[in-house]
Amino acid sequence: MQATPEQLKTLNKLQEADREALLAQHELDALPQKGEIERNKKRLAKVTEDASKVEEMYQSAKHSLQLLQDEDQQLADRQDSSKDRVDNAQGDFRSVTSLTRDLEGIAKRRETLEFEMGKANDRLAEISKVRQQAMDAKQQLEDRQQKLQATYDEQSSKLKQQYDEQKAIVDKLEPEVPADLLKVYHRAYRHCGGVAISYLVDGNHCSACRSAIPENRLIEIKRQAPISVCPSCHRLLIVDE
Ligand SMILES: [Zn+2]
Repeated sequence: MQATPEQLKTLNKLQEADREALLAQHELDALPQKGEIERNKKRLAKVTEDASKVEEMYQSAKHSLQLLQDEDQQLADRQDSSKDRVDNAQGDFRSVTSLTRDLEGIAKRRETLEFEMGKANDRLAEISKVRQQAMDAKQQLEDRQQKLQATYDEQSSKLKQQYDEQKAIVDKLEPEVPADLLKVYHRAYRHCGGVAISYLVDGNHCSACRSAIPENRLIEIKRQAPISVCPSCHRLLIVDE
């Protein structure tokens, strides 16, 4: 293939920029935070689910305690008013008997309530502990997620910038390479892991795949100088003579 020294230089620069862009892309794909962020996200989802279950238990335990306390308060009020009525019954035997019976019933129920409130309090305290642990675990994972994301954002934006810069160079250089040469270059670039250009070295070797080129092919390759194609790896083979 024909190419002026200037076009060869441009092709080399193009290869360099394409390679740099590809490396930035690979580095971007390989950033370790990406996987960690995903794993952390899954853990966070699980912990959040657990925390919301604990929160439900906590609210229900709180409600149960509140019901007991409300009932106890009502009974305490009734106790007060019954005592007042006993004081004001002025010897009305029947009323006093009935009120006294009522007061006994209330006292008995309040005794039971006190026991139940104690149990409910203990249960609430227990759940509170678990609730705090769940909230702490959630907070920890959220902090970690934020940190991972920040590091990833910083590193990835740098790599994206590198990629964009190199791609801009590629866009600028490509029009300067003859179309048929560019086509072969692109094909080799795609098929050869981002290294499309090799050199004829040590007289008869491809610098990229290191294979020795047979004598009869070598004559043809030299005839096509300055650019041919490696018969082995199909990269653009630059023959510097
Ligand atoms: Zn080769």
